[in-house]
Amino acid sequence: MSNRAARVANQIRKEFFIHGRIDLGEIEDLCAVRNAFVKYEQIDGAQGRILFSGASDKSMITVDDCIDYLPKEKFVLAHEFGHHLLHKQLMNFVCQEYDFNKWNKNSSRTDYREYEANNFAAELLMPKYLVRDITSGKGLSVSLMEDLSDELGSSITSAYIQYTKYGDIPCYVVFSENGLIEWVTKTDDFYLGFLDEEDLPINSTPKVFFDNGKKKKKEVCDAIDWFPKLGDEGLLLNEESIYLDSYSSVITLLWICEDYG
Ligand SMILES: [Zn+2]
Repeated sequence: MSNRAARVANQIRKEFFIHGRIDLGEIEDLCAVRNAFVKYEQIDGAQGRILFSGASDKSMITVDDCIDYLPKEKFVLAHEFGHHLLHKQLMNFVCQEYDFNKWNKNSSRTDYREYEANNFAAELLMPKYLVRDITSGKGLSVSLMEDLSDELGSSITSAYIQYTKYGDIPCYVVFSENGLIEWVTKTDDFYLGFLDEEDLPINSTPKVFFDNGKKKKKEVCDAIDWFPKLGDEGLLLNEESIYLDSYSSVITLLWICEDYG
């Protein structure tokens, strides 16, 4: 289902002989060559916007010039470029902060388009072969996700998403906001099940943060805390969270603790 965005992003990379990290200027050039004009100016209440022409293949992309973090700026532009390529003339899009956190493919039609644009941006900035180059054979940790994000110049959230698609250590990612689980994603081979609640486990790092503002880093926890249907098998998980300052959200990485017992 998610593959259309990945396919289109890979075609673009191939067509324009882009093999490594992609920079902001290159995304601007790709937009120009595909008739999407780009400008930067303040947009009230949104970070990116695309207006389509109903009579041609042209569009006008605006990126909010108040964004002062380059990886975010790149991601927003790539996301709007994704709308240009995938959703031409369907409607105009005004994309707000929460649209850039829509990673749930099982969403309503409008949300699905945001999901697709996010997925396109992640694939354009962080294709499978580069994610593998950077992460293969390395131990899993939040710092590996930060390396991935830094080396390819993409947002930290997209680094987690791409790792769950292409990384080699089974893991589970929980994105929570305002005290509740907003979405989860995992590698195909993470076998402990799927969270179907929106409540966070008591004493989990994101729960502690939302309850009293304390930012706990890496911990070892019982798998049963997160996955109560498991039964108590004594299995332990590593749990490591990062706290996103721009709004009240936490990304938590869970993976099996190999050295328990
Ligand atoms: Zn959008």
